[in-house]
Amino acid sequence: MTLPDINRLFPTVERCRELLQRLRWPEGVTCPRCKDRRISTLKDYGRFECSICEYQFTVTSGTIFHDSHLPLTIWFLAVLLLVEARKGMSANQLRRTLWGQHKGSYKTAWYLFHRIRKAMSTAERGMLYGTVEMDETYVGGKQKGMGHGWRKNNQRKKEVVIGIRQRSGELRFFHAEDAKSGTLAKYIQENIATDVDVIYTDDLPAYPKAVADRTHDTVTHSAGEYVRGDVHTNTVESAFSLLKRGIVGSWHKVSAKHLPAYLAEMEFRFNRRKREDLFLDTLRHMITADPMTFENLIHEPDPDFDKVSA
Ligand SMILES: [Zn+2]
Repeated sequence: MTLPDINRLFPTVERCRELLQRLRWPEGVTCPRCKDRRISTLKDYGRFECSICEYQFTVTSGTIFHDSHLPLTIWFLAVLLLVEARKGMSANQLRRTLWGQHKGSYKTAWYLFHRIRKAMSTAERGMLYGTVEMDETYVGGKQKGMGHGWRKNNQRKKEVVIGIRQRSGELRFFHAEDAKSGTLAKYIQENIATDVDVIYTDDLPAYPKAVADRTHDTVTHSAGEYVRGDVHTNTVESAFSLLKRGIVGSWHKVSAKHLPAYLAEMEFRFNRRKREDLFLDTLRHMITADPMTFENLIHEPDPDFDKVSA
């Protein structure tokens, strides 16, 4: 999907609604309240009425789009821009692209992107198997007024990101409390199949206990060894470098509070980077996500937003 495609296929709110209707109700319009399919379409375009419970609704009722004053055409453009930005895009860039240099609101742009990210975070995550690489990295940590005096080991100021990647398969990113063996074990149990062929990690002492019964091999980074035949963690590290370029180049400042949302965005896009239906799949997640997902999502940047930078 390209910008010219969007302009051609979805030039009006009505055309956007038609697509969302197909994605939300592939089996036909269904009452969100009583789930019946005996529905009449009202003259007022876009409204339906349930013949059983008389509930009136639109395709966006009870979804992420419901309480938004933004036209669906703007939502569609924001989705395309976000899914096609390999290294992410800042809310300020979105604002300039949609509304112009000195127009539009940063808060509105930020709100749009965060809602899309929240929908991405609802994507299903199956277990990883075959050959799996696992690694940890640290992001953030430079606080205002702290200069460059921080140290790598000062975890209080650095956020831990765990990366797990199946070779020729999917990627998982997690914002973790720490990189201790109990924490690593939890992510391994939740994401790596018990009959995985092998897990490759570096020689962090926490791994042998964390992997437990799963087959495990390490490269000894501490001794300068990075590749030993098939044993390496290069593919998960390449995903980390994409993440860090995103934080440094596009998002500029990511607070610890919002880090999971950015990780979900990176993971979602990375796992679908070769798929033709990336744009449609994102919209499908947005129109079908449980509205509870969005209930606690604040509508504007929080005061902590610029406290941690990459
Ligand atoms: Zn009904």
